[in-house]
Amino acid sequence: MLDMTIFAEYTLQDILTWAGIAIGILVAISILKKIFRPEKVDPYMQTATCSGCGWQGQVSRHAGKCPGCNRPLGDRTINSTPGNDAQIT
Ligand SMILES: [Zn+2]
Repeated sequence: MLDMTIFAEYTLQDILTWAGIAIGILVAISILKKIFRPEKVDPYMQTATCSGCGWQGQVSRHAGKCPGCNRPLGDRTINSTPGNDAQIT
């Protein structure tokens, strides 16, 4: 059964080739994930800017008060649009 042997060898080689390709793809994906993974952001902290004195920095999302003028900053982030302020109050 020479044909079976050739077929079996071919199949093993084929499996190994595809396994190698699959491993290569998985490694590439894991590398890409590491590269493009966004920085872990503290969910309880926010970068806020004070509309009262112009202070900018990291404050707690819940009890966020401006260290400059002690004005409550709420959920007012730098990136937020003015329309979002209506949802906070
Ligand atoms: Zn302030």
